[in-house]
Amino acid sequence: MTRQTITAEQIDAILPQTQCGLCGFGGCMPYAEALVQENAAINLCPPGGVKGLRTIAQLVAEDPSPFIADMEKNTKPKQLALIREEECIGCTKCIQACPVDAIVGAAKSMHTIITAECTGCELCIPPCPVDCISIFAIAEETPEQEKQKANLSRERFRARNIRLSKENSNQTIHSREKNNSSSESLTDKKAFIQEAILRAQLKKKSS
Ligand code: SF4
Ligand code: SF4
Ligand code: SF4
Repeated sequence: MTRQTITAEQIDAILPQTQCGLCGFGGCMPYAEALVQENAAINLCPPGGVKGLRTIAQLVAEDPSPFIADMEKNTKPKQLALIREEECIGCTKCIQACPVDAIVGAAKSMHTIITAECTGCELCIPPCPVDCISIFAIAEETPEQEKQKANLSRERFRARNIRLSKENSNQTIHSREKNNSSSESLTDKKAFIQEAILRAQLKKKSS
């Protein structure tokens, strides 16, 4: 197979679904799409490690050997995030950053990470203003556990993107309505002034 004969879905199916963006793209599927379009190299996924690199290389029929040594050094271990809840100020910034919606909590209340859903991507760490999120390395999973986790993360990433795009289009409609209502009220104001001028002119003529 060559890159032209495979689909982004085929590549996405073998990516780890950490959704960390370390490849330089906004998640695993965007990286898969860039690979298919020949806009990305095969060695950009540190969570996939050497095993992932070899699998991608096999799928696209490219030689992984120039990248193996670097990937051995740069492989990202499996990990999870944990919020030190007593320090959390409930700002919700981590929720907004999590690519798989694995954090729960309301504004101004303590937040918690759902361990089974966390991919260890670290994207919640930089936005936390009080630095109360820690990362822990976890034991290697069996291939079956890895697959189940990847499937769950893929679904959660997709669901989040759908939610965000709905929220964006609702926001666009809302701001359009707001603009319309303010331009309507502007039109009303102009009409009112025009009428007032006419009334004043008529009054002047009749007196
Ligand atoms: S796991 Fe991270 S680096 Fe690998 S493809 Fe997905 S988003 Fe990119
Ligand atoms: S909780 Fe943090 S580390 Fe875990 S998936 Fe969400 S953003 Fe990534
Ligand atoms: S970003 Fe930090 S302080 Fe804010 S809700 Fe998340 S864990 Fe709590």
